[in-house]
Formats: sequence, C-alpha cells, structure tokens
Amino acid sequence: MEVTIAGTKLKLLKGDITTQKVEAIVNAANTGLWGGSGVDGAIHRVGGPAIAEECRRIREEQGGCPTGQAVITTGGLLPTCYVVHTVGPIWRSGDQGEDKLLSDAYYNSLKIAQKNKIKSIAFPSISTGAYRFPLERAARIALDTIKTFLLQNPSSFNEVRIVLYTTSILEIYKKALMNLLEKEQSF
Ligand code: ADP
Repeated sequence: MEVTIAGTKLKLLKGDITTQKVEAIVNAANTGLWGGSGVDGAIHRVGGPAIAEECRRIREEQGGCPTGQAVITTGGLLPTCYVVHTVGPIWRSGDQGEDKLLSDAYYNSLKIAQKNKIKSIAFPSISTGAYRFPLERAARIALDTIKTFLLQNPSSFNEVRIVLYTTSILEIYKKALMNLLEKEQSF
C-alpha cells in the first residue's frame, strides 16, 4: 500500500528490514544500545561489528539513548548507509506516557535522518514485539506521527517505508492508514 503525503511516498510493506535498499533503516533499540532480540538482533547480526562499535562510542559519550530519542550510526554491512537507533517505550498500563514516547521515537528518528540529509528511510513496528505495545494503537501513533512530520516538512524525504514482519501486522497497519485517510482530506 502506498500514499503520497506532502511530496513523500509513504509505503507499507511486508518484509525484513535488514534487506531494505534505502538510505537508512530504523532500529528498535534499547536505552543501552546493547543489541538484543527481535529486529535489533537481526540488524546487528547482518550489519556486523561496526554498528556495535559506534553504539559503544555513543554509550561512552552520552550514556546510551533515552526512551523516545534517536541516535545514528553506520549501516555497516547492511545495504543501507545508516542505522537510526531509537528506543520505543515498554508498554506498562498505557498511562505511563507510552503514547507520547512512541510518537517521539518516530518523530525524533525522522528529525535525525533529515539532519543527515537522508532521503529514504524504513521503519519497523517499534515497541510492538518484546515491548508489548498494543498493535492497533501503535500503528495509529506511528502513522499519525509520520504524517504530522511530513506535513510539517514537505518533500524533505522521497520515501518513508514501514516494513512489517508478518502479513497480519501489515493488515493492521493498512487498516490504520485507511482510517487516517478517511479522516484527513489534506493529502
Ligand atoms: P521492541 O523491543 O521495540 O518491541 P522487537 O524487535 O521485539 O522490538 O519487535 C518490534 C517488531 O519488529 C515486531 O513486530 C517484530 O515482529 C518485528 N521484527 C522482528 N524482526 C524483524 C525484521 N528483521 N524486520 C522487520 N521487522 C522485524
């Protein structure tokens, strides 16, 4: 599924984020930038040790990456120049600021990519694996935040992708995008 928002193509697709041929992919990292399970593990496995080495340097300089913020490293051996590491919130009860922190993770990833003149970027579904954020709610926040950024920064990206690991997750994101399109007349 593909729509254009303020000059940027927004694509939803099923796939593996480590194979995406875009300038940057986003990692659902942890605050210590240690690498881990899920998408984080896959990115470090395929990208090789150069990514972990830059993460180590960032950890030494600024102690890691707080939830909702983003840092950037090389893409190492991945078919992408950069990895933007962001930290989504761990879902607790929904009243611990989780929505805002998830939105910040998407927004700050786009901001750091824009600062680095990146024109194409791919996101995974942040926080919806080990961090247990409810999928429908996460999809709505992801799409709403990306839309807001693109409307505020027209044509700053050529393409933004959200790469979903399974067909059922893709369907949830598609439904959320259709709901957003029905509500909005501004695209
Ligand atoms: P978090 O800790 O932020 O919840 P996870 O990596 O556990 O992050 O899960 C986030 C999402 O990434 C889940 O929907 C999971 O299915 C998906 N995922 C796992 N591996 C990949 C991959 N290689 N490419 C794209 N998505 C992936």
